[in-house]
Amino acid sequence: MTERFTGSFTQQEPIPEEAIEAALAVLRHGRLHRYNVTEGELGETALLEQEFAAQTGAKYCLAVASGGYAMATAMRAVGVKPGDAVLTNAFTLAPVPGAIASVNARPVFVGVTEELTIDLDDLAAKADQAKVLLLSHMRGHLCDMDRLMEICDAAGVTVIEDCAHTMGAAWRGVPSGRQGAFGCYSCQTYKHVNSGEGGLLITDDEELAAKAVMLSGSYMLYERHLAAPGPEVFERIKYHTPNVSGRMDNLRASILRPQLKDLDRQVARWNERYQALEAGLRDIPGLTVIERPAEESYVGSSIQFLLLDWTPKAVQEVIARCAARGVELKWFGADEPAGFTSRYDSWRYAQSERMPASDRVLTGIVDMRVPLTFSLDDCAVIARIIRAEVSAVHQSQP
Ligand SMILES: *Cc1c(COP(=O)(O)O)cnc(C)c1O
Repeated sequence: MTERFTGSFTQQEPIPEEAIEAALAVLRHGRLHRYNVTEGELGETALLEQEFAAQTGAKYCLAVASGGYAMATAMRAVGVKPGDAVLTNAFTLAPVPGAIASVNARPVFVGVTEELTIDLDDLAAKADQAKVLLLSHMRGHLCDMDRLMEICDAAGVTVIEDCAHTMGAAWRGVPSGRQGAFGCYSCQTYKHVNSGEGGLLITDDEELAAKAVMLSGSYMLYERHLAAPGPEVFERIKYHTPNVSGRMDNLRASILRPQLKDLDRQVARWNERYQALEAGLRDIPGLTVIERPAEESYVGSSIQFLLLDWTPKAVQEVIARCAARGVELKWFGADEPAGFTSRYDSWRYAQSERMPASDRVLTGIVDMRVPLTFSLDDCAVIARIIRAEVSAVHQSQP
């Protein structure tokens, strides 16, 4: 009998009981706005920021409304102005160029390698075109961060890290988000912690931190923060920094705090699943596994492989055959954007030269989400189905 997978690729785990209790407490007292605290009370949002700063080793942390908002705030804080060019990855998701467009700046796309990381030679070649790089650690793949920082430091390019897929990851032991001027995270349902929507920003720069707090809509209540610089820093910037309202609230913060405490355990669970899938996908003719560098500690919340130099029709056939057996694969090679998946040439508000070497990679990228609701057995079943269908289509190719 043909094996089928019947699990859901979009079902997350429930919110932990401790987080539900914390959320109920906030609902019961009714003080959901982050600055609505009683005398001496430390609000959930301020505590979340304090804890995430400690967890990442950052001096300052700000919680905001979304990951996209975090990136836009970071760009405003470092001084990106309308019309400025901002370097970013050709292989990423739509909120990344969207954040650049939201500050009326102009994305300049940098290519992708077969390791699915930013092409550092292309970055070096384009580094003189912009003052800022919005670096997306897309699908959790970290590039050689030492070389990236060398290139950017030498060219005077400020790095903002999009860590939507790397919360809990590290390069040579340095947590993702700690090398750029800002690290930006998303707490949206499909990321590593789940408050529905939400975002976090970290930085070590006191002036950038103060600007981000003001931008997020602190009014003059910034002294209620526990992971922000002192009032003397706000004195320098408060008259010149607009309020672009996008705060986190105490309800979401209360849900996030217990999840962040549990992040290491969840990362280990993701990686068991990832490694089971990866083992099952090795040695399939025509399929390239993405090898992870030794310097990288990753979070296997999704997995990618390449069907390099396959015809679009053959890739589509693999996807259709896997889908018929319950395995949902996403393809970055499609001409039309679908679901969460789009490509640099789909973002027509941001013109770009074609990048043939990147197009070859993008056309081959197959992507799969790895929810923690999958068991290790589920992962083995999924890998067997992919193996069978990739092999069948590969053999039938001319
Ligand atoms: C989800 C995501 C974002 C944006 O996060 P939101 O919280 O949804 O705004 C940014 N970059 C990448 C790569 C993402 O996947």
